[in-house]
Amino acid sequence: MSIAPTPAGERSVSAVPAVTAPLVGADGSGHCLNGTEHDAVGGATRGAYGDAPRAGAGQRTIVALLAAVPVLAGGFAVVRLWSHGIGWLDLILASVMYLVTGLGVTVGFHRLLTHRSFRPSRWLKVVLAVAGTMAIQGSVISWVSQHRRHHVFSDRTGDPHSPVRPPGAGLVERARGLWHAHTGWLFRRNPVDAERWSADLLADKDIRLVSAMTPVVMAASLLIPFVVGWAATGTLVGGLLALLWAGLVRILLLHHATWSINSICHAFGRQPFRTRDQSRDVAALALVSFGESWHNAHHAFPNLARHGVGPGQIDMSAAVIRIFERLGWATDVCWPTPELLARRRVVPLSC
Ligand SMILES: [Zn+2]
Ligand SMILES: [Zn+2]
Repeated sequence: MSIAPTPAGERSVSAVPAVTAPLVGADGSGHCLNGTEHDAVGGATRGAYGDAPRAGAGQRTIVALLAAVPVLAGGFAVVRLWSHGIGWLDLILASVMYLVTGLGVTVGFHRLLTHRSFRPSRWLKVVLAVAGTMAIQGSVISWVSQHRRHHVFSDRTGDPHSPVRPPGAGLVERARGLWHAHTGWLFRRNPVDAERWSADLLADKDIRLVSAMTPVVMAASLLIPFVVGWAATGTLVGGLLALLWAGLVRILLLHHATWSINSICHAFGRQPFRTRDQSRDVAALALVSFGESWHNAHHAFPNLARHGVGPGQIDMSAAVIRIFERLGWATDVCWPTPELLARRRVVPLSC
């Protein structure tokens, strides 16, 4: 999963193999089986670290601000928590905004717009795209483009954020790989090339509009908690505290939950399914990532609406998609079947 600060539409300069196979199914029939995209680039070499050159000063400054300001705010919040605790309003507001923006990323950006794991009503698509944009992880088109690229070149040359090091790499080099996958890749030049990776989104005028509104939506992501806190308490301090907890701290936690899928879930954990990459299932992150950390299952079957396919595997995003389906807001949902899972399972599934 990615944050993608490079402007949409910029052309790729990397010499990666051309992708000829469709990334996502265009219709409801059979697209759940489209789970082997990365087989199309079997000739790519392992290890993506250092492939992309360092980004320009402008991109590095923006990324540093977007990543560092929430960290600084988080440090202040910890000190404040120790001395003053946290009020119910801030706690509830932060939880609701984490839920909405997190599901915007996992259900909207990822399972719907990247992998087409269900067909939404038009208003639901727009709401999810806006909610995902509020997570401050780049525009919807850049996010989807980088993530599709990740799947096609996963843990090989061309993957924007692989932690995988060459065989025999030492501890320091492996740690550098984890840093690269978690945050470091954002400081490198990874052109979005939306025409190549997200032609379907560029053809969708609703998504184009949401993508164009990215700066406004991101500003609203901070403004909303401030205004609600101010209105509810009637004080400027109340507004600023809501901005701290439901704005900056919430963004900090969701950033690192998302980025952990790129780093931890390609380095540690179980691999119950056969894939050509190092994707892994990490149960400890399932709750905070809304089910995205069942990442080996996801790489084995990218188009499934459910990633936690084993017994007892918590997957809140799948539960939300099920609710959307029951309400008639989502159709053609790609749910796993035992026959499909058996195609790539190599060890028994467990919680
Ligand atoms: Zn992955
Ligand atoms: Zn994915």
